[in-house]
Amino acid sequence: MQTHLAPQYQDTDEGRQAEAILRKCVHCGFCTATCPTYQLLGDELDGPRGRIYLIKQVLEGEQPTRKTQQHLDRCLTCRNCESTCPSGVQYGHLVDIGRKIVDEQVGRPATEKALRWALKEGLPSPLFAPAMKLGQAVRGLLPDGLKNKVPQSRPAGLWPTREHARKALMLGGCVQPASMPGGHWSKAARSRRS
Ligand code: SF4
Ligand code: SF4
Repeated sequence: MQTHLAPQYQDTDEGRQAEAILRKCVHCGFCTATCPTYQLLGDELDGPRGRIYLIKQVLEGEQPTRKTQQHLDRCLTCRNCESTCPSGVQYGHLVDIGRKIVDEQVGRPATEKALRWALKEGLPSPLFAPAMKLGQAVRGLLPDGLKNKVPQSRPAGLWPTREHARKALMLGGCVQPASMPGGHWSKAARSRRS
């Protein structure tokens, strides 16, 4: 994809890196088929090709808006799109650059800033597990909006017995051990069957 960077990005590392990635994209759209947010929302701008186009416009000097920011926010950064791209476009790196540039130019409401801060600091915090336990204990009393975000307490279950020499390494992550302690059990059971 031909790009013409705006002067303010031409001599920056980020601009050069983004331009090299953008130039690899042939706009074929194969990536949209594997994007979960595109499948859910059905909007081209909530898929990788549309987001690439939005980032390109910003780098070419167009003023980003809240709408641009929201389309980039909705990306899960799962990078599933990279796995189907025939041109090897490093979308994950591009969206990191795009988000940073857009956030420098588009403000966020205070409530959204507070929510983002709470998620960033709260989910990896050692206080998350006790807070989840407390939430589960009073789940029945919570308003519906909050209740839907607190999974019911379930026992982790027994760890499957080992039946072969292969080992699988599983990442606990930040919230799974507290919110879904049986998650690894079911993954291990599935991999044992396959
Ligand atoms: S699959 Fe790759 S080349 Fe095709 S539109 Fe998506 S990012 Fe661009
Ligand atoms: S990283 Fe995931 S959510 Fe984001 S555009 Fe790619 S496939 Fe879609």
